[in-house]
Amino acid sequence: MRFQDIEGQREVINRLTATVDSGRVSHAQRIVGDEREGSLQLALAYLQYLCCTDRRHHEGGDLRADSCGQCPSCRKIASLQHPDLGFVFPSPANGSPSVSADDYQAEFRDFVLATGARGTLDEFNQSLKGSVSTSMIRATDSANIVRRLAMKSYEGGWRMMLIWHAARMNPTAANELLKTLEEPLPGTIILMVDGGDRQLLPTIESRVQTVRLAPRDTAADMPGLAAQYAPMLVDWLRLLFKLKMKELSAQVDKMAALDRQQLAQMLAYAQEVMRECFLHTAAGVPVTIGSGDDRFDSLFPGMITANNIELVCDALNDAQHAIERNAYAKLALMELSFSMSKALKKR
Ligand SMILES: [Zn+2]
Repeated sequence: MRFQDIEGQREVINRLTATVDSGRVSHAQRIVGDEREGSLQLALAYLQYLCCTDRRHHEGGDLRADSCGQCPSCRKIASLQHPDLGFVFPSPANGSPSVSADDYQAEFRDFVLATGARGTLDEFNQSLKGSVSTSMIRATDSANIVRRLAMKSYEGGWRMMLIWHAARMNPTAANELLKTLEEPLPGTIILMVDGGDRQLLPTIESRVQTVRLAPRDTAADMPGLAAQYAPMLVDWLRLLFKLKMKELSAQVDKMAALDRQQLAQMLAYAQEVMRECFLHTAAGVPVTIGSGDDRFDSLFPGMITANNIELVCDALNDAQHAIERNAYAKLALMELSFSMSKALKKR
C-alpha cells in the first residue's frame, strides 16, 4: 500500500512522512479512524514508507513523499509477508479461551488483501463466521507480541507490530503490554489502529502517540467550513462556558436544525478548530482557520490544553458517530454539550 492509493488524508500523511524523514519515529503510535476512511490503509502505507529503501519525495504535489512500491521491502509489506511485521487483531472466541490472532493469520492476510485494507472488523468476523461481540485481543495475544518484539529483527531493520482494533484489548492483555510499550527494544514500532468507536484503556492511551484521520469529504475545504460554521460554534462555546441551560438548549435547537451532512461537517470543523487551539496553547502554532471575529484562540484563550484535548476530541467523535448512526440530533448535541462543558473545565 502506498500513500497515493489512499483517498484524501493528505495533511495527516504529510505529517507522518515528515516525522519519518526527520528520524522522530515514536515507538508506540495509534491511528484513529474508520477503515472506510483509510485507517488501516494508512497504517500499512506508513510502515511501508518507514521500511522503504528508496523513498520518493515530491516537490509541490499534495503528497510530499511516498514509498517506492518496488523495493524488496515495499513488496514484502504490500503482500503482508514481511518477516518483521506481525499482526494482532481481535479474534472471535468460538468456544476456546486460548484462541489468539495467531490462529487466524492467513485469514487476516487474505481479508486485508481482498478488501484493499478497507474491510471492517464486522466484515472480518463475518468472514470467520465468528461474532464480533466475543471478538477481542486477549492475554495470549499480548504474550505473543512481547515474545515477538523481544526477538532479533530478521532483516536487520524495524521490528513492527500492527495492532488492529487495539481498543478491543481486554485489561489483562493491556497490562501485559505496558512494559513493552514503555521500554521497547531499539528499532521497535507498535502501531495501533482503531476506529475510535470504543475507548482505549487509559493505561495504553497515555503511552501512545495518537493521530486522528479527518472524516472523508468534510476535511477538504476548511476555510469554506469556517465561514459556514464558525459563528454558530462561537455562540455555542460561549454558552458552554456560561452553562445557561435555557440559552444553551435554544442554541442546540439551532444546530440540530442542520441536516446530517452539515452536522457531520460542523463536527469535523469543530474537531479541527480544537486541534488547532491545542497546538496554539501547547506549541504557539498560530491558528489558521477562523479569522477575525471567529479567532477561537483569541476568543477562548487556553481553552484546549493537554489536560482536555483527548476528552474534547472523544466527545466530538462520539457525537459524530451518533449522528452517523442516525441518532436523534438534538439529544446527541445536548450530550456533546455536557461532555464538552465538563472537558473545558478540566483545562
Ligand atoms: Zn520501497
